[in-house]
Amino acid sequence: MMTTIQPQPGILDITPYEGGKAVVGGVSNVVKLSSNENPFGPSPAAKEAVQRSVHELHRYPSTDHAALRTAIAEVHGLDAGRIICGVGSDEILHLICQCYAGPGDEVIHTEHGFAIYRICTLATGARPIEVAEQERVTDVDAILAGCTERTKLVFIANPNNPTGTMIGMAEIERLAAGIPPEALLVLDGAYADYVEGYDGGARLVESRDNVVMTRTFSKLYGLGGMRVGWGYAPQAVIDVLNRIRGPFNLSSTALAAAEAAIRDQAYVEKCRAENTKMRAWLCEALAEHGVPSDTSTANFVLARFGSVKEAEDCDTFLQSQGLIVRRVAGYKLPQALRITVGDEASCRRVAHAVGLFKAGQR
Ligand SMILES: *Cc1c(COP(=O)(O)O)cnc(C)c1O
Repeated sequence: MMTTIQPQPGILDITPYEGGKAVVGGVSNVVKLSSNENPFGPSPAAKEAVQRSVHELHRYPSTDHAALRTAIAEVHGLDAGRIICGVGSDEILHLICQCYAGPGDEVIHTEHGFAIYRICTLATGARPIEVAEQERVTDVDAILAGCTERTKLVFIANPNNPTGTMIGMAEIERLAAGIPPEALLVLDGAYADYVEGYDGGARLVESRDNVVMTRTFSKLYGLGGMRVGWGYAPQAVIDVLNRIRGPFNLSSTALAAAEAAIRDQAYVEKCRAENTKMRAWLCEALAEHGVPSDTSTANFVLARFGSVKEAEDCDTFLQSQGLIVRRVAGYKLPQALRITVGDEASCRRVAHAVGLFKAGQR
């Protein structure tokens, strides 16, 4: 039989997302610095919560996530009613696209923006519009210039991945005030937890009706394997997203782990401080080896090399030393490598190896 089965428009334009590599053939004692994971893992309280959860595995999980939303609201000083939890912040980003963009609409992301923005835009049949950054920093004027009457969503990550750079609150406010009335601004705060004194845009969400913030437990909270993220949005947006969210999107185990993790702020503060310290050390060590990077506000460093070939050769050398970092050619940064800030031993290993590579180049 001849069929004419076709996926929806846009789907075949998607290049499948590739996660950070975790293995190198034939090399043991590998250190994975390719996915911006917390090298110390989650709080011990989160691990205990996971163990306790095995006794209730026959029960369906909560559909309204009330306990986790309350914990998030208490820790961040937010309104629990305007929080939505998802299977990673990826799910929240997909829900936002599905609800607010479709065929004929445009969705803006920046030059080196996170790959998922393009994927979830194409998945809804809308058109991704890429706007330039200013030397690897989000450019508010370029975004505003890229807006049209078809623009429905604007995605920025602040701090951005893979650049590690961020813009200040005044610039974000200017962006929120300047986009067209039909458009929603999405502030992806996956790395906001690493920035002392930055609320990820939470207050802006509360003072306007066109801003959504997304957050995750995958990075500082060390729970990438559990898949928990959340969003903070105006009530009207939350009510829309909840209409299509799966009622049991988060497992009881994931909910318990996230709640325990966010309530252990002492642990989180230790991890944040360690990251800040080792990030500064790593940037300096790389610079001493002739490898510059922008000031990073996240848990990774974008190391820049003199040429595409040099970046590729360095990556190959690092792999031979059991060090897995992230190639970011897919983010239009073929001369750079993104290196997650690991624990002290990993930072020393990667800096030492980059030094060996650079010395061998001369
Ligand atoms: C890691 C990351 C996320 C988080 O994704 P999860 O689905 O929550 O694991 C979101 N946005 C950016 C820019 C990221 O780097």
